[in-house]
Amino acid sequence: MPLLRDLKGTVQPFWVTLRNMFRKPVTIQYPEEKRQPPPRYRARIILTRDPDGGERCVACYLCSAACPVDCISMQSAEQPNGRRYATWFRINFARCIYCGLCAEACPTWAIQMSPDYEFSKYASIDMVYEKEDLLVDHGGKDSEYNYYRHAGIGVVNPRGGNEDEYGPVDIKTNMP
Ligand code: SF4
Ligand code: SF4
Repeated sequence: MPLLRDLKGTVQPFWVTLRNMFRKPVTIQYPEEKRQPPPRYRARIILTRDPDGGERCVACYLCSAACPVDCISMQSAEQPNGRRYATWFRINFARCIYCGLCAEACPTWAIQMSPDYEFSKYASIDMVYEKEDLLVDHGGKDSEYNYYRHAGIGVVNPRGGNEDEYGPVDIKTNMP
């Protein structure tokens, strides 16, 4: 009957309002109240260290290759013992979409997502973080992992100086 249908249509919205008036609110009064995100929450990126305190990053560029928005850049270098490192390492958080692909790609677990979500800035240039801003003094989610204990330090002899290893190719000899 149209009268009953109309009556129900009028009363039902009030009933929904009344019912929700006594429910616990899902919102919180941020920033006075803060919610603790789960440990695997994807927010500010950090560069971690191995248990010996050394930098885990070997400047392999895999994270920057995996990044869909190209917001990671770096310059690689090599120590005399063959251990690679990044002379500089930069992330533009103004472009980052916090997808976590860089952390997935990292073979040394150097780059990790942290639950720290409170780092917004007024100027987007302030969202560009350098290596010294990203580097922390702990191992992050797996503090015992040490990449070089598994992989060894790549180059202890000059290139081509190890058994069954070819020397580097002089690209100028390939010229026509
Ligand atoms: S979280 Fe995603 S967008 Fe941000 S730096 Fe890593 S790969 Fe790039
Ligand atoms: S953070 Fe990881 S993936 Fe990125 S360059 Fe360093 S070692 Fe490679």
